[in-house]
Amino acid sequence: ASTFELEIVTPDKKFYEGSVERIVIRTTNGDIGILKDHMFTVSPLQIGAIKIKQEGKYKEAACAGGFIQVKEEKTTIITDSAEWADEIDIKRAEEAKKRAEERLHKSTEDIDMLRAKAALKRALTRLQVAK
Ligand code: ATP
Repeated sequence: ASTFELEIVTPDKKFYEGSVERIVIRTTNGDIGILKDHMFTVSPLQIGAIKIKQEGKYKEAACAGGFIQVKEEKTTIITDSAEWADEIDIKRAEEAKKRAEERLHKSTEDIDMLRAKAALKRALTRLQVAK
């Protein structure tokens, strides 16, 4: 199958670099699939799973939002955090989910609500990817 170059960068490391057949990613405008020769694109990402197809098989990673840039030579994803399924600490994600839900029930300042909503979405994405 034809492939394209993908790089996923987080603040601490290059999370991934390789040749892939297809990716499916959650942009703020919905899910998009990217194959070789996709048109130039820059888009913000939602918190959600990234699906990466390599040698006919999909791998999944949890992604904490960020940006994707699709260029001819390379597709780059820049995100605050990314984890493969087997790197996810389920207990930690369940605790983060609980904390976020408690904060959302208390409902205080708007900014705290947005942060709690984002934390909840990260935790739910991690639990979904880890399962
Ligand atoms: P927590 O409240 O548990 O810290 P968080 O959503 O606030 O969760 P982030 O700020 O998104 O955490 O991530 C901080 C760092 O911890 C990142 O490097 C991320 O990959 C890692 N991380 C966060 N949660 C988990 C988890 N459940 N399993 C493995 N790594 C995690």
